[in-house]
Amino acid sequence: MKVNPSLTARLRIGFLVLFALLLIVSLLGVGRLFQIRVNYENDITRYFQLELEGERLRSAFILEQASARPATAHQKPSQAELSSAGDSFTDAATHARTLTDSDTVLSAELDQLISSEASWRKAVAQPLVHGTVPPPGVERRLTSAVTNGGDSLANQTRVARDASRDDARNDTRNTTILVAAGLGGALLAALILFSGLINSMRAPLGRLVEGARRLAGGDLRTRVEVGGPVEIASLGRAFNEMANSLERDARERDRVEQMKDDFVLTVSHELRTPVTVVKGFAEMLTAQRKGLNSRQSEAAEVIAESAAQLHKMINDLLDLARSDAGKLRIEPVSTPVRPLAQRVGRQMRPHFEERDQSFTVSVEKDLPEVQADGDRIAQVLANLLTNANKYAQEGAEVRLAATRVGEEIEFAVSDNGPGLVEDELDHVFDRFWRAESGETQSVGGTGLGLAIAKSVVELHGGAISASSIPGEGATFRFVLPIATDGRPTRKAPARRTKAGAAG
Ligand code: ADP
Repeated sequence: MKVNPSLTARLRIGFLVLFALLLIVSLLGVGRLFQIRVNYENDITRYFQLELEGERLRSAFILEQASARPATAHQKPSQAELSSAGDSFTDAATHARTLTDSDTVLSAELDQLISSEASWRKAVAQPLVHGTVPPPGVERRLTSAVTNGGDSLANQTRVARDASRDDARNDTRNTTILVAAGLGGALLAALILFSGLINSMRAPLGRLVEGARRLAGGDLRTRVEVGGPVEIASLGRAFNEMANSLERDARERDRVEQMKDDFVLTVSHELRTPVTVVKGFAEMLTAQRKGLNSRQSEAAEVIAESAAQLHKMINDLLDLARSDAGKLRIEPVSTPVRPLAQRVGRQMRPHFEERDQSFTVSVEKDLPEVQADGDRIAQVLANLLTNANKYAQEGAEVRLAATRVGEEIEFAVSDNGPGLVEDELDHVFDRFWRAESGETQSVGGTGLGLAIAKSVVELHGGAISASSIPGEGATFRFVLPIATDGRPTRKAPARRTKAGAAG
């Protein structure tokens, strides 16, 4: 079984381990330092006591010497005094032995002293007590052996005391270094532990961030590998569930859209034939007014007009539905710009004349050909010009211009009509959108023309945009790619054509 503790459990374990390590190192360090201190104090006390006992031994020996040699010549040495001094020496020696037990050097020094004193007692003190004077050489040698033994014991004790102090210092320093190293090690272990914890979160978190970025970028198939601490693993699972449901919704939406597109396509298609028939008969009727009275001919005109509107709307809907279904076909070929602009200009001219509007067509000199389906682009231009004609006031100025911009040809239709405010510009290419102003509403329209224009331009690999200064007019621009084998059209020089002049 794979154990995967939660983030809080991991943190708790981390802190516990760190706390335990620090506690152990601190306790060991403090305990060791305390022990060193206690040992040092014990040693110092012992050596001072030993020095004291050394002094007692020295005094006892002096007493022994004094007892063996009375102060005046007529006095006799006393066996009792000698024994008492000897006892005092032995007592001090016994005491000193308990203090040197653990130290071989000091024990040896003490043994040496005791045996020197025993030799002195035997070869010098006893003969003196019994009235025999030992040879002076022997007495001097044995006496100085005892005296030197005492000095040597005192010296060794001092040396041992200094050594104990140095040992304590060294031990304290070493222990302090060890404790510091231990604490450093514990902190390092904690650091490794926490960086391991962070690393265990970093990879799954990184995957989540990357996944969210891809999902936001529209890749609904994005899923993340679930892993890391429990909390992050649950986050990963929640992310995958969310992606699942988003994908499900998108699929459902696509299905509904598809159904809607199919429906619009079928209905428009089915409607087109009867409407074409109605339109045709209505036009036939209006053309043969002779047999009709005035009411009938008026009715025939209304029917023809409405049928024409309906026909246009159905064609627009059909175009949009085809474009949505990916069935709107264009056949882009190398197309010279000037003839195209002039053709549309010619078709539109009567409408501008009808409203007393001036209409200018301006095509830059030596323009290369565009890669375009001429009829479709003519349809887009006609739509933009029809709008300018419809929405600009009578007597307004309308201009169609074609220029080269980098590797593209830009077509611009501008007017000095009412224009559009910024908010309206955001929606102008939306389907069925029409400005709410009274002027717009008074003019007939479906709100589909610009949406179709956008589809057609984009299908050519171009882009369309609108700009306006409210109250001063609007400009609609679109760009198309230059034909790969496009040659500049040098036949006609650039000239401006006024409405009414040959476009
Ligand atoms: P329609 O003209 O059938 O309403 P369009 O898609 O061609 O549909 O245009 C959408 C809307 O954009 C129009 O209803 C109008 O409000 C606005 N519009 C388009 N061209 C112009 C223009 N040249 N000046 C002012 N408003 C315009």
